Amino acid sequence: MNFSAVVVAAGSSTRAGPGAPKPWRSLNGRPILRWSVEALSRAGAGEIIVVVAPERVADAGEALAGVASWKAVAGGATRAESVRKGLAALSADDGEAVLIHDAARPFVTSAHVQTLLTALVKADGAIPALPVADTLKRGVGIVAKTVPRDGLWRAQTPQAFRLRTLLDAYAVWPVDGEPTDDAAVVERAGGKIALVAGDPLLMKLTYPEDFAMAERLAGGQRIVRTGFGVDAHRWGPGEAVWLCGVEIGHDQTLIGHSDADAGLHALTDAILGAIGEGDIGEHFPPSDPQWRGASSDRFLVHAASLVTARGGVILNVDVTLICERPRIRPHRDAMRARLAELLTLPLDRVSVKATTTEGMGFTGRGEGLMAQAVATVETPA
Ligand code: MG
Repeated sequence: MNFSAVVVAAGSSTRAGPGAPKPWRSLNGRPILRWSVEALSRAGAGEIIVVVAPERVADAGEALAGVASWKAVAGGATRAESVRKGLAALSADDGEAVLIHDAARPFVTSAHVQTLLTALVKADGAIPALPVADTLKRGVGIVAKTVPRDGLWRAQTPQAFRLRTLLDAYAVWPVDGEPTDDAAVVERAGGKIALVAGDPLLMKLTYPEDFAMAERLAGGQRIVRTGFGVDAHRWGPGEAVWLCGVEIGHDQTLIGHSDADAGLHALTDAILGAIGEGDIGEHFPPSDPQWRGASSDRFLVHAASLVTARGGVILNVDVTLICERPRIRPHRDAMRARLAELLTLPLDRVSVKATTTEGMGFTGRGEGLMAQAVATVETPA
């Protein structure tokens, strides 16, 4: 069966962490957008309209160089608006099948397309869907209700329709309505949508950790990298000190531009070092007044977000605090727990240790405290 396709790639990817919007990120060396468009082209699409953010129309040419029969058009403010613009750009006949696909589902295959086109013969639309396997709960913080999952499905894309069916359905869809898929638009107009077997591989890349999984599925090579960080701050008058994100009562404090948490600073540098992203001073210049007295939590979280932005994960971290006083041991578990929380890591992947230097050197004389840290991360090669 002849078919055309509209690939929607105009979203802002707000849940996917820092970095370029999803369609433009690399998956095993190719932009995510290219995976879908190539697959639909291989499956026999006569025409593929790629709907991108208006400022990205030129980028599409680079991302899709060498792929047959596609055309980029500027999308709208909402997904529905983008789909409408994509449909308007098609030159297909009204009776022809059209597949609407989210660019963030890169693993679509010719087999998926054929299954949908076959099901479309006897329905007004056909969608891949997976039965819900997990128990469903409704509530906020506390469970209010267990929701029966019988007959519930997770809808994926591509979704197949006849062009005229979809145009007519969108024509009567309320302007202020925000459908989350196209089948909902056809359903509302009274159309019959066939459910076909979905595929876990049609997952939508949404959260930072999805990209690490996708990279493995894409056969992308991943490498393990290690970074090292050191920091020291001078003791001065005070009543408490911040170390590894925990405030400890003490007869002195560490002097520094931010909260002087040498543990967090060393660890932040270790993570930045593992991904070759410079050091903490480059990202948060001490000359910038906005970091005066700042909680160092944000430095660490920023470094961790740079790891996820490149499709990486932090494997483990290990911090050593070097001082004669205060005693670290009583606070070690709280420090581990805080670092684990900030990095969203299991506790056993976070280590905090302490040592003295037996009275030798600046730490031994009580002039200052030093922290050293190691971080191991895994990223796409
Ligand atoms: Mg420091």
